[in-house]
Parts: sequence; structure tokens; C-alpha cells
Amino acid sequence: MQVTLKERVLDISESVDVLVVGGGPAGIGAAVSSARNGSATMLLEKRGFLGGNITASYVETCNYFFKGTPFRSEGIYAEIEEKYHASYGSDDIRKDAPLRFSSEYLKIFLDDFVKGAGVKLKLHAFVNQVVVENNEIQAVIIQTKKGPVAIKAKVVIDTTGDADVAFSAGVPFEQGREKDGLCQPGTVSFRVAGANAKRLTEDGDLLKVHGKTFNEDYRAGKTNLSCKRQDLPFGRLTAGGQISYINYSCEYGIDPTDVDDLTLGEVKCRQYIMEFYKYMKEHFEGLENVEISSIAPEIGFRDSRRIVGEYRLTIEDMEENRQFDDVIAVYPRFYDMLAPDANMDGDGSVEGKGYKGHIYVPVEGNRSFQIPYKTMLPVNINNMLVAGRCLSADHVAQSGVRAISLCMMTGEAAGAAAALANNEGTSPKEINVKELQKVLRAQNINLP
Ligand SMILES: Cc1cc2nc3c(=O)[nH]c(=O)nc-3n(C[C@H](O)[C@H](O)[C@H](O)COP(=O)(O)OP(=O)(O)OC[C@H]3O[C@@H](n4cnc5c(N)ncnc54)[C@H](O)[C@@H]3O)c2cc1C
Repeated sequence: MQVTLKERVLDISESVDVLVVGGGPAGIGAAVSSARNGSATMLLEKRGFLGGNITASYVETCNYFFKGTPFRSEGIYAEIEEKYHASYGSDDIRKDAPLRFSSEYLKIFLDDFVKGAGVKLKLHAFVNQVVVENNEIQAVIIQTKKGPVAIKAKVVIDTTGDADVAFSAGVPFEQGREKDGLCQPGTVSFRVAGANAKRLTEDGDLLKVHGKTFNEDYRAGKTNLSCKRQDLPFGRLTAGGQISYINYSCEYGIDPTDVDDLTLGEVKCRQYIMEFYKYMKEHFEGLENVEISSIAPEIGFRDSRRIVGEYRLTIEDMEENRQFDDVIAVYPRFYDMLAPDANMDGDGSVEGKGYKGHIYVPVEGNRSFQIPYKTMLPVNINNMLVAGRCLSADHVAQSGVRAISLCMMTGEAAGAAAALANNEGTSPKEINVKELQKVLRAQNINLP
């Protein structure tokens, strides 16, 4: 049986210079950068708040891997860190804790931050349709409670993480591992209240010890839990006994873009959380009296669609630190891929390329890699850029590209490029990249 969707004529409701879709790290960087460079900019976000995985998956610890290395936050990300901490401070009582946001305060901070940059924001604005003619996006359609709304923009930036806009525009994409399309697992993070903050901190960092013990017990087959997750990152511990982030539940083998898989992932992860919650109360000193205070509003993903762009960043580029004329970001070389098939045997090295267990390679000294501008240019659409975790890269390279502050840096570059295209009266594919690099340097992005 089939049905036909009727064609519908829509008035253009608003026109802007630059339309950014997706209000996560990349989208925030893109919108603020575009607006500050003189373009009338609108940011669309499907949820009721900004921040992407930082706020929706409680990933409040963003640059922990910089510790002990020569790397520092850059550009708009550094500015957010600085201004956020000046306003909201830091309430983590764990010794030597890295800089962490509180995602609830961050939501409020980001509302003001994007508004202050002159960005027009629409929340509850889901996009999965565009009108394309002559390889250009003519209009982006927001699905609203009142039906579809059409927005016109000279340049569209896709920062949805899942490349939803690019997909709607017919941009070819890859997803997951090359051989079987498997992505990293989906995670539903959660928070607890009622932890014994004193006990957890009086002899060093007891949460770290719990994480280590859990990993060993899991590997020794002692935990008897159904979730195949062995690592246990904890977030902020506050004096009031809140642990703001427990990154435990993982559902493996699901497609982040499939509605039935998403449903399965949400339901399964909540079951894993309940199982683990009982386990932690029984096994972890200092957590005997905790209660679940919140479960993340949505399952979070580390990777899904990756567009086919004019250049595809590869693991070899990262290993060799290949230098690009059109470099738009330099970032410490690291990889972090949870085993897509839940294989827990690997040693974390890149050699297995995600087929022999997880990959975790921390930052080594000043080793870095470059991201070229062309990774953000879809092969077949001329007035579009794609930034963040869905730009053009192979699956292993993406596990380094997905870092939050780097996603914001690629977004920042895309926003500046879109504004430059408008100012030069050209398309993102034809801008003067040397000029873009100048703009980025002026925005405190360290480029060679
Ligand atoms: C559990 C977990 C732990 C992680 N840990 C770390 C870590 O410790 N350090 C680190 O650096 N990274 C970590 N990551 C990875 C990191 O969070 C992401 O790679 C990063 O957030 C990607 O940024 P982004 O802006 O590209 O996409 P996202 O953060 O996914 O943001 C995309 C935004 O677009 C919106 N959106 C999506 N589709 C649409 C649509 N069709 N229409 C409108 N809006 C849409 C979403 O609601 C979201 O706000 C973790 C991820 C997860 C899930």
C-alpha cells in the first residue's frame, strides 16, 4: 500500500543571510561567528534549549583531555568558558577536577550569549525538509505545531550532528563503520542526588576508585549487569551531594536516525539505568543513599551520518599531521571510540580501526592534526556548509573530530565562511580561504 504526500505552496515566512540548523556546540559557534561577522543570522533548534549533547546528555566536562598538555581552549569556546565561569563559578568539589559547566545554568547562559551576538533564535524548530533547485537550497522547512514554515537563506549551515539538513538536500553520506555501518552506542546519561560528598572526597577521589573497580569487576565477569558498558565516567560532585553526570547506559548496534531504533535505545537505556542504580547503591561506598534525580531528556549519540564533502579527513591525515592550505582548525590528536559492536577485548589502540574493540588514544604532548575547510563543503550543494560531528571524515578520524570544543571551532569557521560569502557576494565554495583564515585568527583561533 502507498500514500501520496500532497504538494503544498508555502509563503516564505522569513529571509536571512545565514540560517544555522542545530543549536549544539557547532551550531552555537556557527551562529555567533556569522552574526558577529555582519550577517543577519537565524539559529533553529529542535529542542527547547541550546547546548546539544552538553546540555541534553549532561556532557559538562568538555576539555578534560587538555590537562597536562600545551593545548588551550580557543575562539568562541574559550570565550564561553571564561564568561560562564565568571558568572556561574564552578561547584565541583572533586580535587583537581577539570573545568566543568553545569548544564542547567549553561542553558540560561547560552540563551543570553546567542542573543547578545544578535542571533535570532527559534526553539522547537525541527527541520527535515528543504527545497533544492540548481544545487542550491531555496528554502528550509521547519516543522512546527502550526504546520510547515519556510525560511529562506543565502547560506545554510547544517550543525544537526546527524546531518539532517544535508540528508534532506540529497547530500550523499556515510554512517558508522565502513564494513557494517555500525555507529558508537547511544547513551542516556543520568544524575543522582544524596551522595555522601564528604565520604567521597575525604580520602582522595573515591568516585575514581569506584570507576576503576567497576571496570575490573566488569572485565572479570563479576557485575552481572545486562548493559555491555565497562567504563564509568562521573561528572560534577557538588557539596550538596549531586553527581551531575553518570555516563553508563549504552545501547549498542542501533541506528541513530531510525525511529524504532531510537525508541528501543531510550527504553533499554532506562532499564540499564535502573539496574545500575541498584548496583551502585549496593556496591559503592558513599552512594548508599542516592536517588535518581534526573534522566537525560534524550538518548545521545557520538556519531551518525557523515557527509561526503569535497575533502574527507582520514586517520592517515591525523596520524601524519597532514598540513592543509585551507586549514581552519588545529586540534590535539586524540581518538575516543566506544566499540560499535560492544567488543570489550581491545587494547584501545587505533590499529583495530574500531573492529577490534574500543579506541582510546589520549593527547600525546603537542601532537596535533589539522582540519581543512573542504571537509565542510558538501559535494553537491553550493550554498551550504556542514560543521560539527557530521562533517566529512572517516569513522576513526570522526572519533577525534567529535570533541565538543573542536565541533564549536568547526562551527565557528563555518559561520565566518558563510558571512564572508555574503560579504563577498559569492558562495562558500568560492570564498577566499586566506581571508577566512585571517578572520579566524582575529577571533583567537590558532592557525599556522
Ligand atoms: C554520552 C556522551 C558522552 C560524550 N562525552 C564527550 C566528552 O567527554 N568530551 C567531548 O568532547 N565529547 C563528548 N561527546 C561527544 C560530543 O558530545 C559530540 O560529539 C558533540 O556534542 C557534537 O556537537 P555537534 O554540535 O556537532 O552536535 P550535537 O551536540 O549533537 O548537537 C546537535 C544539535 O542539533 C539539534 N538538532 C538535531 N537534529 C535537528 C533537526 N533536524 N532540526 C533542528 N535541530 C536539530 C539537536 O537537538 C542538538 O541541539 C559525548 C557524547 C555523548 C552522547
